[in-house]
Amino acid sequence: LGEYIIQLAGHKPSHIVAPAVHLSQQQIRELFSREAGRELPDEPEALAAFARERLREKFLRADVGISGANFVVAESGTVVLVTNEGNGRMVTSLPRVHIAVMGMERVVPTWEDLGVLLEVLARSATGQKITVYTTFAGGPRRPGEVDGPEEFHLVIVDNGRSNLLGTLFQEALHCIRCGACLNACPVYRQMGGHPYGGVYSGPIGAVITPLLAGFDGWEELPYASSLCGACHEACPVMIPLHDLLVDLREEEVRQGRTGTAERIAFRLWRWIFTDPQRYRVAARLAAWLQRPWLRREPGGPGTEAPATGQGSTEGGGSGDPAVQGASPRASDGLPTLLAGAVLRGGPGPLGAWTAGRDFPPLADRPFHARWAQLQEEGPEGEVPPREPQRGVDEAGPTGEREAARDGA
Ligand code: SF4
Repeated sequence: LGEYIIQLAGHKPSHIVAPAVHLSQQQIRELFSREAGRELPDEPEALAAFARERLREKFLRADVGISGANFVVAESGTVVLVTNEGNGRMVTSLPRVHIAVMGMERVVPTWEDLGVLLEVLARSATGQKITVYTTFAGGPRRPGEVDGPEEFHLVIVDNGRSNLLGTLFQEALHCIRCGACLNACPVYRQMGGHPYGGVYSGPIGAVITPLLAGFDGWEELPYASSLCGACHEACPVMIPLHDLLVDLREEEVRQGRTGTAERIAFRLWRWIFTDPQRYRVAARLAAWLQRPWLRREPGGPGTEAPATGQGSTEGGGSGDPAVQGASPRASDGLPTLLAGAVLRGGPGPLGAWTAGRDFPPLADRPFHARWAQLQEEGPEGEVPPREPQRGVDEAGPTGEREAARDGA
């Protein structure tokens, strides 16, 4: 049904499991009304009845039905389709010819393996124990059977999949297309599926599309991730998607696909971060250089009430023009400038990045400087002693632990 809706709309799918999830009920009603040539009521039941009527007519007239395959059981050659609307059953049994198209990684060895995966797929995709329709297509109609196609063809698509075998990226082939990683991904949730550009969106789309189609035209996809790891935690087959995205980025660098400016920027970054002295100087310099782009905005942190002490804004609350988007005054000390401020604008990509996001300013003193001061301040400034850790500190006196370690 979702595919029918997006075909009418001329859209690409925006989700692996729910391809029309980006459209509202009202938009679907308008689409169906245009197709019907009359105004349809707003009730979901009426809209579903219209789609059923249209699709049923097509299924009954079609000579050839083309389906995908969620799984194929190797020990019997059975094609398995899971749906919640029953259209998969129509397309595999009503037309005279059934053509099933499957990626080569859809094969599972036995029916026992299939049982596990059917449960995992339904639970991760839609929160069901099992999908409403699970269709098993075992080939053409046999003598004595009353329905089923007269001809059956199975198309096994490689399309670059076998190139992944034995590589870092082999685990991407374990995907069962449940869509759980999309639902968990903060990037997908923010922008939806269409900006990914391919058939597969979300974290798995960002991994699998460049692997199957190559980097040309898809080189930005591995960067469409915050690498938070939520996709990995949601994935029922534990594909390390965030690791694969990093590996893909590394591969792009290895192939020399990054621009000169980016290469220079990262070399500079490495040069600074591999030397403590250089890092300290750079941190202080950057904290000073960020001044022109510091902004405090209405409703932002530190603008609700007059602040006190170090870091207070003169005049305090949101009625102060200095707080409402104006550049803080150069005469202010850096701690005062930083209180409640965000970076807005800036040179190069920083300007684009901060145009729509709050970017926290660099601290006036880096952590190591604060730490050194805490050490100097004596007992009041010292960090309280840590709690004993089980299995480490409770194992007995230090001498016993060391003796045990030596013995081991
Ligand atoms: S990568 Fe994992 S979570 Fe994402 S669609 Fe595939 S199986 Fe589901």
